[in-house]
Amino acid sequence: MTDLHRLSIRELSEGLKQAQFSSRELTEHYLKRIAHIDPKVKSYVTVTAEQALAEADAADAVLKSGNAHALAGIPLAHKDIFCTQGIKTTAGSKMLDNFISPYDATVVAKAKAAGLVTLGKVNMDEFAMGSTSENSYFGATSNPWALDRVPGGSSGGSAAAVAADLAPIATGTDTGGSIRQPASFCGLTGLKPTYGRVSRFGMIAYASSLDQGGPMARSAEDCAYLMNVIAGHDAKDSTSINKEVDDYVANLNGTAVKGLRIGIPKQYFNVAGLDAEVKARVEESLKKLEEMGAILVEIDLNMTEAYVPTYYLIAPAEASSNLSRYDGVRYGYRCDNPKDILDLYKRSRSEGFGAEVQRRILIGTYALSAGYYDAYYVKAQKVRRLIQQDFLKAFENVDVIAAPSAPTTAYKIGANLSPTEMYLGDIYTLAVNLAGLPAINAPVGFDKDSLPVGLQLIGNYWSESQLLSIVHQYQQNTDWHTKRAAIAEENA
Ligand code: GLN
Repeated sequence: MTDLHRLSIRELSEGLKQAQFSSRELTEHYLKRIAHIDPKVKSYVTVTAEQALAEADAADAVLKSGNAHALAGIPLAHKDIFCTQGIKTTAGSKMLDNFISPYDATVVAKAKAAGLVTLGKVNMDEFAMGSTSENSYFGATSNPWALDRVPGGSSGGSAAAVAADLAPIATGTDTGGSIRQPASFCGLTGLKPTYGRVSRFGMIAYASSLDQGGPMARSAEDCAYLMNVIAGHDAKDSTSINKEVDDYVANLNGTAVKGLRIGIPKQYFNVAGLDAEVKARVEESLKKLEEMGAILVEIDLNMTEAYVPTYYLIAPAEASSNLSRYDGVRYGYRCDNPKDILDLYKRSRSEGFGAEVQRRILIGTYALSAGYYDAYYVKAQKVRRLIQQDFLKAFENVDVIAAPSAPTTAYKIGANLSPTEMYLGDIYTLAVNLAGLPAINAPVGFDKDSLPVGLQLIGNYWSESQLLSIVHQYQQNTDWHTKRAAIAEENA
């Protein structure tokens, strides 16, 4: 079969169960596509071909026994932020270019236990700091829809790999939009779960109170399959929550769009940088949901102006603390011929970290230093609480909240936006992490350059099933999620 990469996760699962094709054939098919097409996209940092084939053979044996998990034998790509035993985990940084983790992240372990086959590790902004994936030590990844554009970030490799059909599904992480924004830029569905739903154990930390892993795929249904594998309590992550996990696949038809109250924040649609076509596509998708029976309700989210400054204090503060472990002593990059211990620290860190990471360490260290702590960090924490309360108040009146995922479509590679311009592009995604809420991106059309536009739906805590279900029903009534970039149409 030459078109195995066209099949959805459900179709792959059924095909494998009925032995229409084996996991080895499917894995070889994807490895061949990666070898031929990825040199143009550059989504993978590491391809684990040999290990993938061994995992595929093991999955085929389990499939023959008839006791296989629904996803056994299906390939996936992991963002290079998830630790993988025996395979390099770089977090997109020179600092970790030589790092081989002695253990698997819980997300990786769960995927392995279900019999999923790891194709490799995909590119990202260094330590997940960025919105274009250009901050990677390994160079930029291309957007499959236009190779001179960025795929978004920080989970840009995950998005590009799936959008070019170089993996059927991928893991991503989202600290301030890194699943939703690349999903938006690449025409995919991506879910950022409630904080605590997916274990952070073995997920390299950026800002621990905001980081959350989740699925990136071509449809809500595909995301639901991966959520069923990765969600759940983990004793190894003290912030993971011990709460029953939904069957996200079984619940896909659970929420009726009919009667659903969708909040439209006034402030969100008046943001200065909001592109007219993005606005138009998002409004058309809301009209479609209205036709399907949803009720659109205008709401106020009065804290909107505080999102960017609050996040860009708290995230760097946590990053400066998390990244202090990279000191050239225990693991990671070490400078040549240090004169003394201070020289070792200084040069290892200034040679090992890229410019954006250093900028954030400096901002964060400043915000946490004695004398400024109350004025910046403590104040930001108070505003964070107000942002959360703003959402909770809105959810008294509506079921979900709609927004664009990003104010624009994908930027050109090398556009060289200033840090402030870049940070403003995160306006629609940051607050969700500050409040710990779940949110999903769904593709809802294209702009005049044929670049994908995404709709974001923000839910109340633990509403992952509801969000997946709404997008699933939208996708049953529209075909945006079935569109493929030209490069994905190429056969290897
Ligand atoms: N773009 C945001 C940042 O640079 C969010 C990144 C993320 O979610 N990891 O911090």
